[in-house]
Amino acid sequence: MTAQQAMTGQEARVRADDRGHVFHSWSAQATIDPLPVEGGAGSEFWDYEGNRYLDFSSQLVNLNLGHQHPDLVAAIERQARRLATVQPSFANDVRGELARRIVEVAGEPFEKVFFTNGGADANENAVRMARLSTGRRKVLAMYRSYHGNTSTAIALTGDPRRWPNEPADPGIVHFFGPYLYRSAWGATTPEEEAERALAHLEQVIMLEGASTIAAIVLETIVGTNGVLVPPPGYLQGVRALCDRHGIVLIADEVMVGFGRVGEWFAFQAHGVVPDLITFAKGVNSGYVPLGGVVISGDIARAFDQRAFPGGLTYSGHPLACAAGVATFEVFARDGILERVRDLGTRVVEPTVTRWLETHPSVGDVRGAGLFWAVELVRDRETREPLVPFNASGADAAPMAAFASACKKAGVWPFLHFNRTHLAPPLVITEDELRRGLDVIDAALEVTDGLALGSQ
Ligand code: PLP
Repeated sequence: MTAQQAMTGQEARVRADDRGHVFHSWSAQATIDPLPVEGGAGSEFWDYEGNRYLDFSSQLVNLNLGHQHPDLVAAIERQARRLATVQPSFANDVRGELARRIVEVAGEPFEKVFFTNGGADANENAVRMARLSTGRRKVLAMYRSYHGNTSTAIALTGDPRRWPNEPADPGIVHFFGPYLYRSAWGATTPEEEAERALAHLEQVIMLEGASTIAAIVLETIVGTNGVLVPPPGYLQGVRALCDRHGIVLIADEVMVGFGRVGEWFAFQAHGVVPDLITFAKGVNSGYVPLGGVVISGDIARAFDQRAFPGGLTYSGHPLACAAGVATFEVFARDGILERVRDLGTRVVEPTVTRWLETHPSVGDVRGAGLFWAVELVRDRETREPLVPFNASGADAAPMAAFASACKKAGVWPFLHFNRTHLAPPLVITEDELRRGLDVIDAALEVTDGLALGSQ
């Protein structure tokens, strides 16, 4: 019997409808074969053939509370029965409660939340607020960053996803952020990297003209582009530059906010406070689309007497906000932040650190909480990446072989260029986490076979 004949009727229909009519993001349509997913629960999802996968990607680092969390599903159901939707210009109980709870965990000086449908439009609107409140136009953003795929958000983005969309927003200038493993300045310690990255940024500000710059936008921890945790002192230095020049600091917390690294917001572990925070994903694990901008009192007040020119029909959608309020309840009841910190330091960090010794293809590991990157190289001495920057097709074959080994053993990995990222749901059990790490450990033998073994 061929694989096609073995398919259930339902699976065949899902595949046919998808390939016939769904136009997929970021893909050449004829080259893809998306997995038909039948269901999920907790940290696992499964296909129609009964294959189960531990979700080490959390569906684009989104599903912090896992698949089908009963509290989130119940909250959405209750809300749908009561009031499924109401336009943004009315006051609504769950919308107001969620805004208050977000402001409470963000702390001083935050006062208000502007809700959006996701992360990209949160960044669009944060930039708009910065531009209008300062009267300046330019925005600085990092190379090696992702901020979303709408016009200003993709212009802010510092990775190749920006290229086909250019020119987008002419006011945006990119700079290098810290990345010690591939330091742009030959730094060898975190302190040196922070110092040199700050000196570079200071020069960019000087040459662009401080008085023309409305905002600096950065991912507090760079996500898709490598889980780059800033070295100590870097974010404080950026904050000081912003203060000196009247520049608004926007922290994009879309991927790392809401517990991914064991804090409500990642900046809270770095002793700095931005002026605007953008969020999405983990706020309600993406059960219903939701994002937003948390606004400091000063910036909010700039719009007390003049209208903010932005709004979206689904802004602060009650179903999404009900799932957000339930998220806060689950975090408090189940000690999610504490368990993320515990699993990160007690289980993930020692395991991946060991891989540096045991796997010749592992060049670097870095991360925090339940968010880690394992960077794969061909040669540990030269740090030549296992696949070239922006590799696709045959060039990316070693990473595809690694992914296939993970999937065969029941783990769905998250890959980007020459890295695998570890981003399981925050509700993953310790047993599941250890099982997933064992699978990845074994799959790394595939990439070891392609490395020089120069340890
Ligand atoms: N910002 C960051 C840091 C992200 O990781 C993403 C998406 O992955 C976005 C913004 C865009 O969010 P969305 O896809 O919800 O528009």
